[in-house]
Amino acid sequence: MLHKMEENTDWKSKYQDTLKDLEARELEWEQIEALLRNTIGRLSIAGRGFDDRLDRHLRLIQDLSREKRDKKLADIVAALEQSPLNGKSRRSDPILLMLELLQNIHFDSAQRGQLKQICSELLISVANGHDRISISVYIQKLSTLINENFDNLDSDSKTAKILFRLLDMLALDDSSSAKIRAQIGDIKKFREQELQALAKLINAQLGSASGSSSIDEVMTTLLERLAIVQGANGAAQDIQTRVHQGVEAEQWPATLSEIVNSISDSLRTMEHEKRELEEFIVNVTEQLGEITQVISEGHQDHQSDHEDAQSLHKFVQQGMSLIQKNFHSNNDLRELKTEISKNIDEIRGGVDDFVDRFNLRHEATEERNIKLTKQLSQMEQETQELQDMLKENRTKLMYDALTGVYSRMAYDERIMQEMSRWSRYQTNFSYAILDIDHFKRINDTYGHNAGDKALKIVAQMMQNYVRQSDYVFRIGGEEFVLLLCSTEASAAASMVEKMRRAIKDSCFHFKGAPISLTLSAGITETRSGDDVESIYERADKALYKAKNAGRDCQFIAD
Ligand code: GH3
Ligand code: MG
Ligand code: MG
Repeated sequence: MLHKMEENTDWKSKYQDTLKDLEARELEWEQIEALLRNTIGRLSIAGRGFDDRLDRHLRLIQDLSREKRDKKLADIVAALEQSPLNGKSRRSDPILLMLELLQNIHFDSAQRGQLKQICSELLISVANGHDRISISVYIQKLSTLINENFDNLDSDSKTAKILFRLLDMLALDDSSSAKIRAQIGDIKKFREQELQALAKLINAQLGSASGSSSIDEVMTTLLERLAIVQGANGAAQDIQTRVHQGVEAEQWPATLSEIVNSISDSLRTMEHEKRELEEFIVNVTEQLGEITQVISEGHQDHQSDHEDAQSLHKFVQQGMSLIQKNFHSNNDLRELKTEISKNIDEIRGGVDDFVDRFNLRHEATEERNIKLTKQLSQMEQETQELQDMLKENRTKLMYDALTGVYSRMAYDERIMQEMSRWSRYQTNFSYAILDIDHFKRINDTYGHNAGDKALKIVAQMMQNYVRQSDYVFRIGGEEFVLLLCSTEASAAASMVEKMRRAIKDSCFHFKGAPISLTLSAGITETRSGDDVESIYERADKALYKAKNAGRDCQFIAD
């Protein structure tokens, strides 16, 4: 009895304990239920917008999970299993998560269409209960699309802009970089030519120094050439003036050393420019190296995103199938609750880690992009400055500083171009050398400034006489060359005749004194087998003939 009573009491307390236990479990169930509802709700939101049919299923699931009905988890599971997703929603959940991630990648509109297509096929496939192998075909398609997205960034995206600009800079046959290279090459070539011409001239002059030329003349010629090499540099001009005014024998060493200093100044300037160019090129190479590295790091980030998204997918899938397994295998509600809570916490932790890693990588990419943009604009600025500098130098060197007509340097370039054009297309042209008569006398009688003024006037009048398509070059002290396009020698001769007459009649005055200003000329036109030297020599011979014939006249070459 006691025993019974005891048994009875025991039974009662056990019954009460069980009731309490049940109540507690009921509460726990509600918590699990809320947790699951939440998860399902979030996942179904993520999957929306890909396909109308699927949207309806998802909304249904969401509504089901939102309803605050006092139902057991089993009812919700059952509702899910009866839903058009046919019980596969648990398996598709990680896919939905992945789709949510895909939404965050910036695809272009064409890719976006493709993405939509793949996603809806994938979700329909999930809803129809297809197996993982057929689903992985869609995942594969998505991976290809993501990779393509990296390869064909649309032109509006920042990265694409940077890439295109980088490609512009890298393209070796791009006209601007080719131009810079050409300009650098040209300047070197000109300088070499000038230096060679200078060396040739000094040698020639020194060779004949024992003959008729005086040391004054050697120095004068040297200075004339130096002024041309230096462009607008005033130092050579100064020495030149003094030489023209006459240098005493005892001053020769000092004057010569000034000339040497002036030459070495020029060389130093050239050396400095050369070094600047070298530094610039080293700098550009370094920056390109860094940029290439930044871009390959960016590429690695994309790779990491993709790999990470795949491992997240796997991780979430594993978590979900664990939940499913626990449902089926675990009859103890308390244990089930603990297990499932653990599973969900793990999934949540995995997703949070993924988001952290993703954000971290993208912050780093953003920083790198900013750095890259800065470097590119700095490079652009440097290139621009270099181009401007080269352009300015080139312009300076192409024009004669005193008279403003084309320089000796421009002559060397143009005559080569005209010659090769002529030999290719047989476009004949005429060539005339004009030399001011007794110019030395003008300098000697009226001074160097008068000589300079005469040179300016002569050059200006020549320029006025030629056509737009013709060229006037000052190739030496008081020696000019005319290139007359598509003109026969006889037509050139009558033009030169008129030009000489106009200069002679110009009544040039200096400080009130009339100065006679006449020119002699040698004229020729292109002949088969001609080159730069032969045409010059022929015209020069004709000029020599005119000088011998008493000056103030002209000859067409035999
Ligand atoms: P010819 O009739 O035989 O040509 O005699 P020329 O005196 O004109 O020829 P020459 O070659 O003997 O002398 C040329 C002179 O031109 C020598 C030089 O002092 C002068 N000269 C060369 N360049 C300049 C310059 O830039 N300014 C001035 N004022 N004189 C110059
Ligand atoms: Mg002369
Ligand atoms: Mg002369």
